[in-house]
Amino acid sequence: MPQPAWEALDSDHRGLDERHPARQAKQPNAFVEGNSLVVDPVRQAFDPQLFRAHADLVLSKLQEHLSDSTIRGLRLHDPSDLSEAARALMDPGCDRADGLIASRLAAIVDLYVKTGIQVHSPGSVGRQFSGVVPLAGVIDFVSSVVSQPSSFYEAGQLPNVVERIMSEELGKLIGWTPGTFAMVTTSGGSLANLTALLAARNRRYPQFWDQGSPGRAHSGLRPAIAVGADAHYSVVRAAGIMGIGESQVLRLALDEAGRIRVESVRPVLAEARRRGLDVFCLVATMGSTSRGAFDPIGELARIARQHRIWLHVDGAHGASLLVSEQLRPRTGEVWEADSLVWDAHKMLFVPAPCTLLFYRREEDSRSAFRQKASYVFAEQPDIHSMLDNGDRNFECTKRPMIMGLWVVWALYGRTFFAQKIEAVCRVTEAAYELLRGEPDFEVLHRPESNILCFRHRPAQLPDADVHDLQREIRDRVRLRGKFFISKVDIDGVCALRVVLTNHDTTIEHFRMLLDEIRECAALVPA
Ligand SMILES: *Cc1c(COP(=O)(O)O)cnc(C)c1O
Repeated sequence: MPQPAWEALDSDHRGLDERHPARQAKQPNAFVEGNSLVVDPVRQAFDPQLFRAHADLVLSKLQEHLSDSTIRGLRLHDPSDLSEAARALMDPGCDRADGLIASRLAAIVDLYVKTGIQVHSPGSVGRQFSGVVPLAGVIDFVSSVVSQPSSFYEAGQLPNVVERIMSEELGKLIGWTPGTFAMVTTSGGSLANLTALLAARNRRYPQFWDQGSPGRAHSGLRPAIAVGADAHYSVVRAAGIMGIGESQVLRLALDEAGRIRVESVRPVLAEARRRGLDVFCLVATMGSTSRGAFDPIGELARIARQHRIWLHVDGAHGASLLVSEQLRPRTGEVWEADSLVWDAHKMLFVPAPCTLLFYRREEDSRSAFRQKASYVFAEQPDIHSMLDNGDRNFECTKRPMIMGLWVVWALYGRTFFAQKIEAVCRVTEAAYELLRGEPDFEVLHRPESNILCFRHRPAQLPDADVHDLQREIRDRVRLRGKFFISKVDIDGVCALRVVLTNHDTTIEHFRMLLDEIRECAALVPA
């Protein structure tokens, strides 16, 4: 077996004559000091050949990882053991005598990969992020090496052009006319929710940015927002950051499927008026985090318009259904939204974070941050700086997160996404049907996407114990490591929650999960 390239490169070739051609070729990063050859650590760290060797090593590790088709969820480690293992890898003494770092690099990658949620395994059914499309990961790697932060055209030319292209591609699916709307990328749906709420607030109260909270901002009323009772916590957090105050966040009642009850909205708005509140934004959800429920956007939009309220749609999870002709009807009249959040790192399967924030009116995209900064924002936009988006984003240095999505879209096409999304929604529907036939399980809703909540209720289990049993089951299933599932309180009682994001997870795997749950439940002391 020839020596692997990375080992040859890592070695500092001590003892070789300094004029030795092999050393000259392989060690441009070394200099002679006395009788020995000393490696210049800075030059070595940037050595392209060494880069290639390390990349090859990592790629072969990842290929091995992706080829492992065993059913596994997560191996949870004691944090102090893990910390000890990590510290041991910092010790150069554990390298081989000739100073190789490749063996440590290999051990680090192993440790990193093995301690993660096994997102590419059919056993990983607990979270909204999935195994990424490997090609998108490869492009992310390129982004990391060539560093093109994308808030300004000059620093990330292709990412900025591609953002426009993806905006047009996906805007068409929303139902908007090219040239009339805008899209920015943000690091995550939470930041996108905050950004959209800021835009809504500044539109309603144009003086707010300069003068700060006027207290009773609008016709003597206090600013408030209305959200579904199940809204993601980042929405309420955004209200906190903006100084709206939690008591000005009005919670709208949900139906049994977890959707906002349309008939509850007008009374809440009327009550808000009586309390001296001015509701400037209504937040609806497409694909709620707990149940994957889709709020009735069209009806909410009509109420919002009547009351001159901004309609923000948090589609972090569910907007991706727009890509599938078969599933897009579930998104309703999404084109009525004033702003829409869409996490591509959830159901478009690209590396996190990659979030798209859409505004129905182009000019609203400039509403969130009303600042001037001479060192970055152009006074007289030219054809280049016109594509800057630093003025529309919280982030200054920002990952060129669109690249992975664009490349997968360009090379595999929309059909790839549609088929994967349809597959995971189909198996979730099958899981629902299966659960309905199991007398020791209670299924809590018909799935609208790939999220499903249910409870295990063995015969003779007292109602009072249902909550604790689900918690116990979740922890035990996770600890056994075969499946990774999550939990959520529904109407105050804990439920088991699965998010099926892996196209390899079949109904047979789900059947195995139910058996695993039964076994775990049987082990819980009464
Ligand atoms: C996941 C999620 C968020 C948060 O998005 P991040 O990208 O995790 O910051 C917001 N809203 C909904 C409905 C979500 O499912």
